[in-house]
Amino acid sequence: MSLSSHADRFSAPPTDAEGRIPLIGLTAEELKEVLAIHKLPCFRAKQVWHWIYHRGARDFESMGNLPKDLRALLAEKYSIARPKVAAEQKSSDGTIKWLLSMTDGQLVEAVFIPDGRRGTLCVSSQVGCTLTCKFCHTGTQPLVRNLGPHEILQQVMHARDALGEWPEGKGAGNEKRDLTNIVMMGMGEPLYNYDNVAKALKICMDEKGLGISKRRITLSTSGVVPQIVQCGEELNVNLAISLHAPDDKLRSEIMPINNKYPLQELLDACRNYPGLSDVRRVTFEYVMLKDVNDSDDQARALAKLLRGIPCKVNIIPFNIWPGSGYECSAPDRIDSFARILEQAGYDAPVRRPRGRDILAACGQLKSASVRAKKARHPEEPAAEAPAPATEA
Ligand code: SAH
Ligand code: SF4
Repeated sequence: MSLSSHADRFSAPPTDAEGRIPLIGLTAEELKEVLAIHKLPCFRAKQVWHWIYHRGARDFESMGNLPKDLRALLAEKYSIARPKVAAEQKSSDGTIKWLLSMTDGQLVEAVFIPDGRRGTLCVSSQVGCTLTCKFCHTGTQPLVRNLGPHEILQQVMHARDALGEWPEGKGAGNEKRDLTNIVMMGMGEPLYNYDNVAKALKICMDEKGLGISKRRITLSTSGVVPQIVQCGEELNVNLAISLHAPDDKLRSEIMPINNKYPLQELLDACRNYPGLSDVRRVTFEYVMLKDVNDSDDQARALAKLLRGIPCKVNIIPFNIWPGSGYECSAPDRIDSFARILEQAGYDAPVRRPRGRDILAACGQLKSASVRAKKARHPEEPAAEAPAPATEA
């Protein structure tokens, strides 16, 4: 088995700087195959898996039921380490934002948002994004590379580390954990890194893996129709769509992916997403951009457009970032827009901004840190802007 098959310039590095292969992110079968290279029997793979995903081991030395020489061998060739924390910010409302440094130095954001009994981790899927949605700060950062399955899982595992939620901490049962939900809503378009995201989410959902039910995982996409279908069939996690406009003309203007997958195709894929019901609905995200997409007529057009799809609309006040050219709609405009949707029979909650005091939209912690680094090392060249990794 080649652990670095399909590698291209947008792939995660196959090893860390010391040449060690990450074991996090391998399927149980792959882990068995890797250990079989060293003539180790299946039960050893089961033990290692248990240490990684149940006990939260961060090094092989702590794997007490493995022989010492085996622990040394694993430590020499493989890694189960977490990314380094390049920055951490805690908001007065409990939100924690981490900037994690991957083994090649790429920076990735993960944000934990506590909300009553629920605690949601917002996970990134790529460094940067190939898409260029006009209102999105990540869209201004060229795609550097896809995250590997291990790097997606490492965000969740780091959060469990930081929150003390492995068995020796609070994690004896899911109900006791603060981290209950995952949203693939950080940097990047998860469906343009589908294979790695799927591999990571399968381990998240696996009862023998991280054990987070598919009902507690939401994948947000700008609307990559073929992979929405695939995601429905293979993962069937909750689906969120970044919609942001009620007609093709405006949507194509602010979200260029709409030229490739226009509204009718997108909404058909949503309508046919497996397992939808009154209790399991698609979430449409709608960012409120002043004088762009926020009129009463546009609210009525949206209500008409979504007719027949079991859904709710999350209304998101625009998170302003310098140079975006957009403003957030006024509170009474947002209320009026939401009221029209509610009168038409939709749930249309307005999302409370969280972590305002630490920073604003996703992507900004990273940008602030890159700016600070540039100020310290002005001679370093800017990141190369690669051609899109996918057929965006
Ligand atoms: N690429 C995926 C997931 C990441 S973006 C997607 O587009 O769905 C996560 C969400 O944040 C999306 O709904 C996106 O439209 C929204 N978003 C991006 N920039 C924003 C901003 N400045 N203010 C508010 N929401 C924003
Ligand atoms: Fe990429 Fe999503 Fe931002 Fe669009 S909204 S640029 S798809 S991260």
